[in-house]
Amino acid sequence: MTAEERIRNRKVTVIGMARSGMAAALLAESLGADVFVSESKTGAPVAEQVARLKARHIACETGGHTERALECDYIVLSPGVPPSIEILKGAEARGIPVFSEIEFASWICRGRIVAVTGSNGKTTTTTLIGEILAAAGLDTFVCGNIGLPFAQVADKVTENAVAVVEVSTFQLEKIADFRPDIALILNLSPDHLDRHGTYEAYKRLKYRITENQGADDYLILNLEDADSVADNVATTARKVFFTTQDDARAGAFVRGGDLYSHEEETATKIIAAGEIVIPGPHNLQNSAAAVCAARLLDVAPGVIADVLRRFGGVEHRLEKVDRIAGIDFVNDSKATNVDSVCYALRSIDTPIYLIGGGRAKGSSYAPIVEYGRGKVKGVFLIGEAREQMFSELGKAFPTQFAETLEEAVKTAFGQARPGETVLLSPGCASFDMFDNFEQRGEVFKNAVAALKASDTTNETVTK
Ligand code: ADP
Repeated sequence: MTAEERIRNRKVTVIGMARSGMAAALLAESLGADVFVSESKTGAPVAEQVARLKARHIACETGGHTERALECDYIVLSPGVPPSIEILKGAEARGIPVFSEIEFASWICRGRIVAVTGSNGKTTTTTLIGEILAAAGLDTFVCGNIGLPFAQVADKVTENAVAVVEVSTFQLEKIADFRPDIALILNLSPDHLDRHGTYEAYKRLKYRITENQGADDYLILNLEDADSVADNVATTARKVFFTTQDDARAGAFVRGGDLYSHEEETATKIIAAGEIVIPGPHNLQNSAAAVCAARLLDVAPGVIADVLRRFGGVEHRLEKVDRIAGIDFVNDSKATNVDSVCYALRSIDTPIYLIGGGRAKGSSYAPIVEYGRGKVKGVFLIGEAREQMFSELGKAFPTQFAETLEEAVKTAFGQARPGETVLLSPGCASFDMFDNFEQRGEVFKNAVAALKASDTTNETVTK
């Protein structure tokens, strides 16, 4: 069956009116499906979406999912919707297939798909690969879990174009035929255990990125990450590894401080690691992963190097905000799990005042003790997880609570000395106090700006 046949004149229910659900609904409608959209929220939060659907004559319901949602050939799920909701049990009972939005979009995409997953580094690496491919002159669409839904661009990705798709575990839960030409699993560490139950279950979902790949496809894996390269990653794709060690088994490796790409018998220097702008050992891994993907798409080493020399990273990821009275402020609001906090601690060479906390996701914070030892001089905790974090970190570091992020920034600034760093790297989700991690990062940056304003107006505040 062609993609068009899977959609035209079919009855399609989309569950969820968030960005990806809306994009899927509009795509389905434009391809001739009979679309119905169902959303649990109602009123003002979804009024704009309802108006947009009405304008396209797409039927919808808000304030809950009724039986009407099950009058369809299949369901497309927006990624924010938990698969445990009642209506999906009804779908299962009736044998109605449920697909994620990337699965649906991939039917329509005619170009090559580079799909990036992993516990950390997805957005950075997806963006970096997109920049490299665009610099090489390829018609490139950076999309997925990154702001621009795959379904919003899928029909524009022609045969010669490339879609670089950031793929979350949530989206992989409901794939059927999704088949990337190049798939990347950057790393695996416990995350989202609140939703997926066990680490084993979470890993199995990540591995699904390769389940439909064939012998002409590639699976890029991290040679330094035991869980990603474990033999249980069953795949028929060709495996290509990346590492920041000197290991010629890899398609990208580091030797004598230089990042190399390696194909067949030839190793080619891409760039000195010191010239790469994005900081830290984890970003060297992300760069090596991007090198593998770019070389598989025949991008010239010089083009890759040029991008690595100018790519400054993505906002809210180890973002240098400002320096006040010799103290650096770094916004790593996107560090929503423990592993990324550990990488942040490894990436900063100065003494650190760490601001953490938020909504817990079921992981232990103990690894922070190991990476913070001798480096973290103070910890400031906000949000729901602060009691648990205090019990795991309080013995290792001077630790105190703050009621707000602004208060934490001020107190940390009060304690830091010139040459030291105040780091927001929460290790938690943001939803207990903020709309999302972006807003948390903005609040942090505004608090730093306010400190700066008071610091310059009051010149006696010197450190
Ligand atoms: P994701 O999209 O997977 O959440 P991001 O690129 O947004 O990844 O980065 C999220 C957080 O993880 C940031 O704090 C960032 O500094 C950190 N990080 C980035 N790359 C890696 C990596 N390869 N390993 C561990 N942490 C990383």
